Amino acid sequence: MNQPSSARIIPVDPFDYLVFGGTGDLALRKLYPSLLQREEDGQLPERARIFGAARHDISHDDFLQLVRENCQEHLGAQFPEQAWPRFAQRLAYLCLDVTKREDFETLKAELDKEPDAIRVYYLAMAPSLFGQTAANLHAVGLHENNARIVLEKPVGRDLQTFQQIDDQVRAHFDESQIYRIDHYLGKETVQNLAALRFSNILFTHVWDADHIDHVQITVAETVGLGERAGYYDRYGAMRDMVQNHLLQLLCLVAMEPPSQLEQDMLRDEKLKVLKALRPWPEAINGDVVFGQYEKGSIGGKDVPGYLEELGQDSRTETFVALRTFVDNWRWKGVPFYLRTGKRLASRHSEIVVQFKQVAHSVFDDTITNTQMQPNRLVLRLQPDEGVSLELMTKDPGPGGMRLRQVKLDLSFQKEFNLHFPDAYERLLLDVVRGNSTLFMRRDEVEAAWHWIGPLLSHWEHSSDKPRAYAAGSWGPLDSNYMIYKDNNRWHEETPA
Ligand code: NAP
Repeated sequence: MNQPSSARIIPVDPFDYLVFGGTGDLALRKLYPSLLQREEDGQLPERARIFGAARHDISHDDFLQLVRENCQEHLGAQFPEQAWPRFAQRLAYLCLDVTKREDFETLKAELDKEPDAIRVYYLAMAPSLFGQTAANLHAVGLHENNARIVLEKPVGRDLQTFQQIDDQVRAHFDESQIYRIDHYLGKETVQNLAALRFSNILFTHVWDADHIDHVQITVAETVGLGERAGYYDRYGAMRDMVQNHLLQLLCLVAMEPPSQLEQDMLRDEKLKVLKALRPWPEAINGDVVFGQYEKGSIGGKDVPGYLEELGQDSRTETFVALRTFVDNWRWKGVPFYLRTGKRLASRHSEIVVQFKQVAHSVFDDTITNTQMQPNRLVLRLQPDEGVSLELMTKDPGPGGMRLRQVKLDLSFQKEFNLHFPDAYERLLLDVVRGNSTLFMRRDEVEAAWHWIGPLLSHWEHSSDKPRAYAAGSWGPLDSNYMIYKDNNRWHEETPA
């Protein structure tokens, strides 16, 4: 058995989990493996059923085989052989087309066998199908009785299309039943950001423009297009990553402390940050860099460029860096640098909070000039979730007073020696628990699209090509110039 992911496993009530798009990439790679992990930890109640629903007619046994193979592939050594038979008994496949009302009658007959169970409808399909699915669920009366509906991001391509799709769902489900997922919010380090900020007096009084020089948020991937070429080329990095994941991280860094970590209080504070983001000027200058990878090498392996992978011409950005400000009292003048891309030098996501230099140095100038570094708090989201605090200390030994930067490094895995839950593990069961704290409210998503809209339309109306960068690099040079102009550097470039 796994080391339990927390000392206390909170049981959930009996449920039926319906995964629409139940044979797709997301379901197979993330949703079933996460539920299986929860099974392993003993968190699934006896009366819990999990259905995969999609159009292809596949047998029960083939479905089980498909789920098992994918869980084995994605959990690797953590695949819980012992828990599998229990999990397999919960699984069933439903051949169903969400555009066909009659298919929902069969679904209803199945779900009505457990009339008291919480019903979760997870829409792991193209967002264009969300409205019709919600309407058909409603038409057969499956919107009531503890029903919840989960919408995968990104919903829509801009504010207007988000509102259209969201309106279609809201015509059949109440806002309190809708869970708009951004799985970054379920990551351990992201949760820990709140723990660090709001339970350590060390940070509470220095979390502002008087003490913080700037903030960097990087979400770097080494993968290229993979199987998702069609999807990605229509969306690009700005819609796929910045509009949701990166902005949510920014909100958690910049928000005011809510009086309680309760769902709407937290979301109210995040919303205020989104509304305080500095609007983009008409002429968008060097504060935004769009890039696209060319062929290169990652980990010693040659990889093709984006256009070669795609097999056609495209201006879609696979990299975005931007510099922005939160125009409020706390953050006046503090730049927030955001950066994300595919085929970058390493797979790593982090938030770097760089503090200001001390007001006056008591050390010899020649030493301070060469060795003094500002304090940095680094929250690693992946890989190896953890936190480090970079401090100046005395270089040990006799002789002159020399300074050296050191890291207080906390790797959650090493420190707690526990299985760390995947973000989806937490979020999938939060839906059953009816806890929407870590899901996005409609007004948050609207505010994010509203802010990013001018950037998208600027890019779509410009004839510029994305800046080229070699696969395996840290993106286009322009993203370095963007940060150099403030006399700052990206974290991986700063002396260790
Ligand atoms: P996918 O691999 O293309 O899977 C789509 C699934 O939907 C398949 O099971 C497909 O099976 C089913 N489907 C399509 N039309 C249907 C219909 N009319 N009725 C019932 N089922 C239908 O897509 P995905 O990559 O899993 O992505 C799903 C959603 O999650 C998308 O909104 C995507 O943006 C989002 N998302 C994906 C990822 C990821 O890593 N994959 C990450 C974040 C968000 P049949 O063809 O048999 O019907």
